Amino acid sequence: MADFDGQVAVITGGARGIGAEIARKMAAGGAHVVCADVLDTTEIVAEIKAAGGFAEGRPMDVTDATAAADAIRAIHSDHGRLDILVNNAGITRDQLLVRMKPEDWDLVLRINLDGAFKVTQPTAKIMMRQKSGRIVNIASVVGLMGNAGQTNYSASKAGLIGFTKSLARELGPRNVTVNAVAPGYIQTAMTDALTDDQRAALMKTVAIPRLGTPGDVADAVTFLAGPKASYITGVVINVSGGLYI
Ligand code: NDP
Repeated sequence: MADFDGQVAVITGGARGIGAEIARKMAAGGAHVVCADVLDTTEIVAEIKAAGGFAEGRPMDVTDATAAADAIRAIHSDHGRLDILVNNAGITRDQLLVRMKPEDWDLVLRINLDGAFKVTQPTAKIMMRQKSGRIVNIASVVGLMGNAGQTNYSASKAGLIGFTKSLARELGPRNVTVNAVAPGYIQTAMTDALTDDQRAALMKTVAIPRLGTPGDVADAVTFLAGPKASYITGVVINVSGGLYI
């Protein structure tokens, strides 16, 4: 039997990138995955179904508390259960603090941190009644180590780590675990555009001299959401190739 047979997993920001890879791996493990995103999810849902998995898309803007709660309740009512939530939706608006526009500070905090609260609150109510559940928050190593030009982003991710640890203490007695994964440099469209010189400079900062892949992050997420992590809660798994040790 696969790890996630019969389970329902919601992945915010699941249309592409790391979220889509988490959806692929959970679906391959037998989960019915719900890709919840402001972006169109047609492509990832079709891909998972073509591979024989179960998937659906839900339009969701994590900054809209009412719409997010309605979507979570609808998913629960359609499937009769909600086993896994991955708070993955996130953005960057990088700039040095002295030049940062207040709206870029606000937007990053609103999506990356407030968004996790808005989706997790209705989900936690369901999981507490169910007396089981797994919540995995996608943070970042910059939430642990800081990074010039990312005060807004690293504050949001450090906040998400504090949220993870406190909620783990609240939900543990109800058999709901809450953990975080903190990725480092992950191979995305952005890192594809690096020059050879930039890539060589980057490689000097990591212990394992390669970029991470969305699969590296998704493996840590599926571990935390799976049956082998039932006694693990409130932790942050750093998937950064030793960028932060
Ligand atoms: P992507 O931009 O590829 O995917 C994020 C998805 O979230 C997009 O589809 C995006 O849509 C969506 N999204 C944005 N805002 C909202 C919203 N308000 N409501 C719902 N969905 C939304 O990012 P990655 O896959 O690279 O990153 C995923 C997570 O991993 C993020 O939390 C990021 O901070 C974190 N991370 C990524 C790293 C990396 O190197 N890639 C490193 C460390 C952490 P849209 O395109 O419209 O914005």
